Amino acid sequence: MKRKAVPGAGPLPDAHVARIYDALAAVIEPKSDLAYASHFELLVAVVLSAQATDKSVNAATAKLFPVANTPAALVALGEAGLAPYIRTIGLWRAKAANVVKLSRLLIERHGGAVPATRAELEALPGVGRKTASVVLNIAFGQPTIAVDTHVQRVANRLGIAATATPEATEQVLVARTPARHLLHAHHYLILHGRYTCTARAPRCPACPVARWCPARAEA
Ligand code: SF4
Repeated sequence: MKRKAVPGAGPLPDAHVARIYDALAAVIEPKSDLAYASHFELLVAVVLSAQATDKSVNAATAKLFPVANTPAALVALGEAGLAPYIRTIGLWRAKAANVVKLSRLLIERHGGAVPATRAELEALPGVGRKTASVVLNIAFGQPTIAVDTHVQRVANRLGIAATATPEATEQVLVARTPARHLLHAHHYLILHGRYTCTARAPRCPACPVARWCPARAEA
């Protein structure tokens, strides 16, 4: 049966897409590099991680969360009180304002809980499509695929997608990822991009999916 054309799909055949996911699933534990112990801590960590490394966020939240890890505690801390904990993270001023505002809104609208719908998450300050997708996936087990710079690069290098924007890449990945891998696809691709298929020096000789990759560098 001829498969339906997916706009933005790359040249890699569907059978190879499936094999790539199977191979990544065999070697990658699908979990976030961010440290968190509750839905709220996860939301705050993901908001803080925009254009910053998970390592820098973990260093900050290791000191912040023992002091304030609930919406009420963050509101009480306020922007000025939060600033010293997150000053080492990029865009910290805007993030401090957003974290305090979103904490207040969680109390006002959701009884202090993190909501489980995209619309409610994206209505919070500092929460865009990517952040909402990460929270929906990790906290609520929804098969969303957040596309960051790693996922964008890996999907295109592998020929799964031939896309220029995260939105287009997300659509292709949702359409081309086998159902059995949808839940963890984000983590497979992001962790593969972070540790193996890196931007400047991809480790092709050590890559578990090199045999299907049109962009592999010969050793
Ligand atoms: S073979 Fe190289 S370019 Fe292809 S996915 Fe692996 S690390 Fe990336």
